[in-house]
Amino acid sequence: MTDKPLVAVTGASSGIGEATARAFSAAGHPVLLMARRIDRLQAMNLPNAMSRQVDVRDRAAIASAVQEAEAQFGPVDMMFANAGVARLADIGRQPPEEWDEMIDINTKGVMNTAHAVMKGMMDRRRGTLVMMSSIAGRKVYPDHTVYCGTKFFVHAVSESLREYLSAYDVRVLVVSPGVIETEVLSGVLDQQTLANYKANKVKMGGGIGADIVADLILNAYQLPQNALVQEICLTPTRQSY
Ligand code: NDP
Repeated sequence: MTDKPLVAVTGASSGIGEATARAFSAAGHPVLLMARRIDRLQAMNLPNAMSRQVDVRDRAAIASAVQEAEAQFGPVDMMFANAGVARLADIGRQPPEEWDEMIDINTKGVMNTAHAVMKGMMDRRRGTLVMMSSIAGRKVYPDHTVYCGTKFFVHAVSESLREYLSAYDVRVLVVSPGVIETEVLSGVLDQQTLANYKANKVKMGGGIGADIVADLILNAYQLPQNALVQEICLTPTRQSY
């Protein structure tokens, strides 16, 4: 057992979520791992870990995973609302079903995730919510229309939550990465958009590692509770837009 508090991560089965779960686990925290691909969560084989098959669109499933993990490891002190999909596409040809999916996962899913732990954090007057946005939540791209909409949502909600929760000593940190090497492009079904993205990525010398994002989140978390890094905006140096 460990005396460090429990941390929870949605979308822990790959990419930034997986790297962040590994970083907090290596720092001695028990971890609640949530994603749809539970086999991937279990294969990580982390100590003091609970893996739960959770779709962030299912508010009750997140709440129940949190309850179960808290019964075993104590209260969640950090929740990383990370799960997301990037169905980037030219809006002129994008099927509306792709908007529905992104809006449900990237916006409502993030709210469901924050909701599962917010009241407990307010009662305890401590805790950290880490909200996954994107550089696409700070500026728009013409072939990321609805994805940008979902990430602007995360920025707006995070800033409002930060203001609201500051009185309860609960920290809200928004993460806004540029191009990070993960499985995120598997969600891009529009072949022309995918080709353009990849060409741009080559021009900037490739994306950067998810472990760099994870380490920054861990460093920000490890500051004293009265010190808040409000936003981590991290891009490859050569990413100009
Ligand atoms: P990955 O595709 O590697 O990871 C996405 C994660 O989200 C997976 O673990 C996936 O798990 C999970 N996920 C997706 N949908 C759901 C769902 N409905 N319920 C639960 N989990 C879900 O990509 P990244 O690591 O890059 O993406 C993580 C976050 O980072 C996303 O919000 C993305 O928008 C954001 N981001 C990524 C950037 C990048 O360049 N990589 C840049 C800026 C932001 P599973 O399929 O098993 O459910």
